[in-house]
Amino acid sequence: MTQTIIETIPILPFGMVNAFLVIHERRALLVDTGLPGSEGKIENALKMHKLDWSDIALTVLTHAHIDHAGSAAQVRRLTAQPLFAHKDEFPYCNGYPPVLRPSGIFGRVFQKTGAIEQGFEYFTPDLPLTKAEADLSPFGFPASALHTPGHTPGSLSVLLDDGRVIAGDLLASGILLGGIAMRSRPKKPPFEEDTVAVADSLDQLLSRGGKYFYLGHGGRLPASTVRAHVSRLRSADRPGVFKLPRILPNDQTWM
Ligand SMILES: [Zn+2]
Ligand SMILES: [Zn+2]
Repeated sequence: MTQTIIETIPILPFGMVNAFLVIHERRALLVDTGLPGSEGKIENALKMHKLDWSDIALTVLTHAHIDHAGSAAQVRRLTAQPLFAHKDEFPYCNGYPPVLRPSGIFGRVFQKTGAIEQGFEYFTPDLPLTKAEADLSPFGFPASALHTPGHTPGSLSVLLDDGRVIAGDLLASGILLGGIAMRSRPKKPPFEEDTVAVADSLDQLLSRGGKYFYLGHGGRLPASTVRAHVSRLRSADRPGVFKLPRILPNDQTWM
């Protein structure tokens, strides 16, 4: 049986920002493109597998925040292959300012730096996902792209047929931006537009057989950890239930 490899591309060290290559039968699917100027890091990951830009068949964007889509326009020039994103993410791809709802203290502080609102080279994706799901097997990959809104309206996840999931920023792990330390512990990313939608999307991925979750910020999490994170999201957001705010050591506020 042909092996399908997920190679993590370290856009920033210690898992702070990740993009991914899914490699199957010497063809590569690039999931996210990193911050502006990340093409050298993507190229290094290709070279590790003796591949080059011409081996990328498709680029999928989990969403269009600068740390995931910042190099998308340059990647499209280098690969000459289509960019794929959900249609609801097109405004952000085209420079519409992102809605930033900080999920905790770090998000509020990070927002003040303006780093996530910096401009980058905007673009219009070539292929819009307009349905709930797209089969990626016609591109040569045993995987599907699923609309998993919540972090942003047009967030999507790549679900491999074997249960591995690249989930973008539906959740993160570690501390601060994500990664660095305590990477087995789930947390919200610094920003989250709709927590209930995030919980629904994670449940959808779990019910579709999601086993291991690869994240834009932080480490790989097993389904059991993701399930526990979803229950915390749901209990924290239950209307009419007053909860005293509790500051967790990883800078996460559940209230
Ligand atoms: Zn994001
Ligand atoms: Zn991100």
